[in-house]
Amino acid sequence: MSLNVAIVGSGPAGFYTAEALSKGEGADVRIDIIDRLATPFGLIRAGVAPDHQTTKRVAEAFGRTALRDEVRYFGNVKVGRDVSLDELREVYDAVVLAVGAPFDHLMKVPGEDKLGVYGSAAFVGWYNGHPDFLSLDPDLNTKAVAVIGVGNVAIDVARVLVKTPEEMATSDLPDHAAQAIQAAPITDVYMIGRRGPVEAKFTNVELREMGKLEICDPVVDPAQLPDTVGEGLDDRDARLKARNLATLHEFAERGQGEKAKRVHFVFYASPVEVLGGEHVEGLRLERTRIEGGRAVGTGEFFEIDCGLVVPSIGYRSVPVPGAPFDERACVVPNDDGRVADGLYAVGWIKRGPTGIIASNRPDGVTAADHIRADLGAGSKPGRETLETLLNERQVRVISYADWQKIDAAEVAAATPPAPRRKLVTLDDMLAVLDS
Ligand SMILES: Cc1cc2nc3c(=O)[nH]c(=O)nc-3n(C[C@H](O)[C@H](O)[C@H](O)COP(=O)(O)OP(=O)(O)OC[C@H]3O[C@@H](n4cnc5c(N)ncnc54)[C@H](O)[C@@H]3O)c2cc1C
Repeated sequence: MSLNVAIVGSGPAGFYTAEALSKGEGADVRIDIIDRLATPFGLIRAGVAPDHQTTKRVAEAFGRTALRDEVRYFGNVKVGRDVSLDELREVYDAVVLAVGAPFDHLMKVPGEDKLGVYGSAAFVGWYNGHPDFLSLDPDLNTKAVAVIGVGNVAIDVARVLVKTPEEMATSDLPDHAAQAIQAAPITDVYMIGRRGPVEAKFTNVELREMGKLEICDPVVDPAQLPDTVGEGLDDRDARLKARNLATLHEFAERGQGEKAKRVHFVFYASPVEVLGGEHVEGLRLERTRIEGGRAVGTGEFFEIDCGLVVPSIGYRSVPVPGAPFDERACVVPNDDGRVADGLYAVGWIKRGPTGIIASNRPDGVTAADHIRADLGAGSKPGRETLETLLNERQVRVISYADWQKIDAAEVAAATPPAPRRKLVTLDDMLAVLDS
């Protein structure tokens, strides 16, 4: 009998798992990929920056996996709402959790609840057209923005806010976000890191991009830049950090910049309070220094006037009802991907929110190996029972063929050179399917 596997989540981790299972040797396998959204591919659609279309092309390979005979996509099905994890575990030989880490970590400073503070999961979700965040409707009527964090997500946010409409023409920035960003009077974005330029997490390609923008200059205080990356790094890290440092030195030589907008790299500064009344009016920060690799406060404070604060300090998972959860590490506790009998975890819910898309591939391969080793042949009914359950509950399942229709409608509606004009509500997607 076929081995019946349900994968919960159609992001990179889910699809890499499906790919590894479908290409692996051994018993026949049937793979059902379930996602709460109508649209597949997780953060490839909803996280990766709209102007980084080349990165999103990995979804083409996932699409080929989705079209394999043994694979089925169940979009618009939320585990925990439309079907429980316990039910899935009864029906499938194996269930793989690939639900990611969709929420923001908090800064935990006073004033964080003011209007105008939006974590990057929400803010990026909003400008990428994730249906959960459409109502965010951020007020961008400000000249200055503080982005807390110096990783690639922080760089994405800063870049998307300062690029011209022409620079975004080849992106899939949805209409609502394009209109709001283009109408905003933003001239200065401050990217703020608690630690120094050597500790910053951004990669060099993304950093260099900040030096090539049409109407925006990077601004770096040369006094914050060491001459070398120092001791204690392995060769690879030292090489990568040295590249970043060289790029930052090059930025620093440009002074305060001559273009209409600026992205300021502010290192050694830790937010201590969001200032203002009901709405953000500024940010109070404490200068830091590094002691034993950690940022410690120096007792010296300063303020930045800004009307928008986007903390980009990391993501967190939430428990899946029916699965164990480690509240401290914010992951499903697992032994190399094994969670319990017939239950596995991959991607950010397994490891925490770190790494790039390809970092999820080994998780998928490992989970597929474990599933085959642990279970051999299957004994549970799988797909047809899920279909009956969802039918009885009148869940409108979006199949992969449905998604292809939505995809085609988005592509057809685009104004070249934009690759697609995103549909952002389920109703608009259903209208395409029902027309
Ligand atoms: C803003 C941002 C930008 C990024 N940019 C890049 C980049 O440019 N290049 C790069 O290589 N990496 C990038 N990454 C990292 C990359 O996106 C992640 O490594 C990857 O998406 C993690 O994969 P995942 O499958 O674990 O989670 P996700 O991609 O988040 O997928 C999880 C899926 O599970 C679904 N789901 C959640 N709960 C349920 C439920 N209860 N029932 C059913 N389905 C559910 C979600 O809808 C989602 O589709 C970026 C990450 C972020 C946050």
